[in-house]
Amino acid sequence: MTNTQALVLFSGGQDSTVCLAWALSRFDCVETVGFDYGQRHAAELAARPRLLAELKKQFPQWADRMGQDHLIPLSAPGAIGGSALTDVMAIEMGRDGLPNTFVPGRNLMFLTAAAALGYRRGIADLVGGMCETDFSGYPDCRNDTIQATAKALSLGLAREVRIHTPLMFIDKAATWKLAQDLGGAALVDLIVEESVTCYEGDRTHRHDWGYGCGVCPACGLRARGYVEYRSGATARKSADPSAPVLQDEDLRFSVRPRDLKNDL
Ligand SMILES: [Zn+2]
Repeated sequence: MTNTQALVLFSGGQDSTVCLAWALSRFDCVETVGFDYGQRHAAELAARPRLLAELKKQFPQWADRMGQDHLIPLSAPGAIGGSALTDVMAIEMGRDGLPNTFVPGRNLMFLTAAAALGYRRGIADLVGGMCETDFSGYPDCRNDTIQATAKALSLGLAREVRIHTPLMFIDKAATWKLAQDLGGAALVDLIVEESVTCYEGDRTHRHDWGYGCGVCPACGLRARGYVEYRSGATARKSADPSAPVLQDEDLRFSVRPRDLKNDL
């Protein structure tokens, strides 16, 4: 029996940490890749080794599956500039209807670089945290974009590339619940404590849902999702004290059928 392998696009944020746990629960060997693309804040990149070390320490069932971590410099987005994630500017809506946190082509570049790395490493399965459910308007997070990219990469590399996006059709509350489902309270706590979502890279203000400025759209989404997740868990507990709080059939239903169906 051959070992299954995956390469996770791991930024150090909440979504990619959940994706990493998802991959570790499904593949025999999981490598990770991050990109230094000229982002304004190094907080996410700094979170990556902390999260990897803690995952190894706290989850022995996954430690043996964790393979090499790669950090690839990708200077094009920063050199092109014009985004609030790469340049010093206030976060606001642009005239094109997209927030100026949009980095054009970022996910396409990430996936292309990840697929090239996967080609060298003999890994056909990529895992990414792209999600079209939460409103951000990023066109490169949509399922159509991702699956078309998988097809283009498969053709361009003359080798099948599969892109798994376990978060594509779930919201932030369900992402917290998926973390719970995969790694229990310990994984939720680790994500709260160490993952970075904030567009400002704020690591000084601590909230129930983790560190962040509490003001930027990314903090807003993370905070709202956490509140919904916690209130949902509490509601289930009070409705049926004998039921495990952390089992969520709705979540499983929402993740699996479409996710598997859309994997090429
Ligand atoms: Zn923030």
